[in-house]
Amino acid sequence: MSDARQPASGASIDERDEEPVLSLTDVEVHFEEEQGIIESFREDPQIVQAVNGVSLDIYEKDVVTLVGESGCGKTTLGKTCIGLQEPTGGTVEYRGTDIWEAKRGNADVPFSEIRKSLQIIHQDPGSSLNPNRRIVEILAEPIKQTHPNLGSSQRRERIYSLLERVGMNPAADFADRYPHQLSGGEQQRVALGRALLMNPDVILADEAISALDVSLRVEMMDLMLELQEEFDTSYVFISHDLSNARYFSEHGGGRIGVMYLGEIAEIGSAQRMIDDPHHPYTNVLRWATPDLGLDAEQAGEPPMRKIDVPDPVNPPSGCRFHTRCPEAREACVSEEPDLYEVEGAEQATACFRELEDHEYWSSPELED
Ligand code: SF4
Repeated sequence: MSDARQPASGASIDERDEEPVLSLTDVEVHFEEEQGIIESFREDPQIVQAVNGVSLDIYEKDVVTLVGESGCGKTTLGKTCIGLQEPTGGTVEYRGTDIWEAKRGNADVPFSEIRKSLQIIHQDPGSSLNPNRRIVEILAEPIKQTHPNLGSSQRRERIYSLLERVGMNPAADFADRYPHQLSGGEQQRVALGRALLMNPDVILADEAISALDVSLRVEMMDLMLELQEEFDTSYVFISHDLSNARYFSEHGGGRIGVMYLGEIAEIGSAQRMIDDPHHPYTNVLRWATPDLGLDAEQAGEPPMRKIDVPDPVNPPSGCRFHTRCPEAREACVSEEPDLYEVEGAEQATACFRELEDHEYWSSPELED
């Protein structure tokens, strides 16, 4: 690196005097591409680089929103955060304990306890709620795990109180229904309630509002943030939509992490990422999101050289965005940028243009 500025981890733009709940260090998730039977006889499987070299700390009552195009690795990274996906490189620690060492029985903290603390809400709650069980039975399960000594009437009392907390009033009207007898929004409220009943430290909300009507999305995000206070939980919120990411991060006082081809291209507060993005790819996402109210900048062509997304099996050398980046120069083809802190801002960006003395500035522009 040719500048005094130090590389940042995704966490270092949100430094706190406390231990993170989750700490990801240089995490990579590479897996074999699925092959047909004939292909499997002819050639070795190709390796998909779904997540590459990501470091990120998540604190108590934190909000981290991951945003990016389909296939950028945000869901894989989210699942890696909560111990549902084992990384092929790097480490994921829960309060200082390596999650996967705990799973192998090599840690003081049992894996079951860690898993309980890290919950998920899926995009489609209909498929994650057992269709053959009533809502009261679905919600009784986590209570039996966390409070095995409670009697059935006390359990029902808790369930009713929770249903009311997630806006399902009166609870008695919902408790004995089956999931298919609820609307999509009501199902998602039950899924949120079920996750909260485990008293989780972190909830992964994987496109959790994408399937809801636009009018219900803000309501659901408000509810999640309201309950965050009450239940002392953190969110990793995944969205393909920058305007939802902005709303959730802005109201939750958190960060937006923009992902591109398995890497964090830029991370920072919602205000910084929307008002003053430093990475050309964040600018592309802004351009593609009309709801942000940036009309003047959204006219005309997308701020990119090419539309096609490169294959994660064979990502571009150097900066992974160089094949599409309108600012790319020769230096971007061979060297990979770190995440660099943006001076005086809660923001870090993986672009050489952040470094005043980098050879990027004297390097020729890339030919198309
Ligand atoms: S490092 Fe180069 S290619 Fe990558 S985003 Fe910056 S200018 Fe574009």
